[in-house]
Amino acid sequence: MKRVAMETLSLSKINYFLKTKTLGQKIISFTTVDSTNSEAKRRSADEPEGAVLLSEVQTAGRGRLGRQWLSPGGNIWLTVLLKPELPATKIPSLTSVAAAAVCLALEQLRPSIADRLQIKWPNDILLNGRKIGGILTEMQVSAAKVQAVILGIGLNVNLKAEDFPEEIRSLASSIYLETGEIPSREQLIASILNSLEHLYFKFLEDDLSETLAVCRRKSAVLGRKIILIDHSGKPTSSGKLDRSGSPSGQIREAEALDLGSNGELLIRYENGEKASIISGEISLRLQ
Ligand code: ATP
Repeated sequence: MKRVAMETLSLSKINYFLKTKTLGQKIISFTTVDSTNSEAKRRSADEPEGAVLLSEVQTAGRGRLGRQWLSPGGNIWLTVLLKPELPATKIPSLTSVAAAAVCLALEQLRPSIADRLQIKWPNDILLNGRKIGGILTEMQVSAAKVQAVILGIGLNVNLKAEDFPEEIRSLASSIYLETGEIPSREQLIASILNSLEHLYFKFLEDDLSETLAVCRRKSAVLGRKIILIDHSGKPTSSGKLDRSGSPSGQIREAEALDLGSNGELLIRYENGEKASIISGEISLRLQ
């Protein structure tokens, strides 16, 4: 497969494809930044809802639970700053909103990969069962009020196998590796923002139906046996997971039944006990 030389992101090309009212109406782009989510947090008070931060490279890209996110150039590392006037308990649903938006955008741009594209609840985007992207939703809360939501989206576009450290080489992948093609990043970014705005505006109207339909349709998890790893040491669900945590996390087996009305995962443990899991400090493995 021939590789295309990496091109610089063009903001005017993104604008050309953008159909949004709010999201991406302001785009702040960097060649290098520690993490677009960290930069968005630093700027959140000064930037408007819908501002998008993009960076070619992240030197300290982050995943959930403080994990490292490999972020070299030629991929998509973006953060959308949102300021919904909602209680903090509503915010985890935005991970599902973003995951659905990424899937819709990829399906639209590459219909041929649609049936190989999945969401590993709550935040991983899989292609052919391998992780090609992830969502990192963070929030800033002050005086019990959500000041800002920092919605990070990372998508591996051009990464090659040797770019990944050995330990994740069999689990992680990129659009290039799975399809042999490098799509237009500008078109993909615009398409993600177009879908995200549509689903986000619905979310603000308390309508998650389309998001949930996409997340169910694309789920790599529903109907399957899973392993839940609890890193919190605290109860993690409305069910009872009350053993104290260890550095590696408490492990329990369950079956993934459905998504709840806010995108939470409804599960049944091996002993028949049911619970609803919000993303928080849980990692999930497919069995
Ligand atoms: P997991 O996917 O293992 O359940 P998680 O969803 O809890 O983890 P994430 O924040 O989604 O955690 O991802 C962080 C993990 O993803 C890292 O620990 C590493 O294993 C892997 N990773 C890091 N960079 C990339 C990348 N660019 N593409 C795919 N996977 C990556």
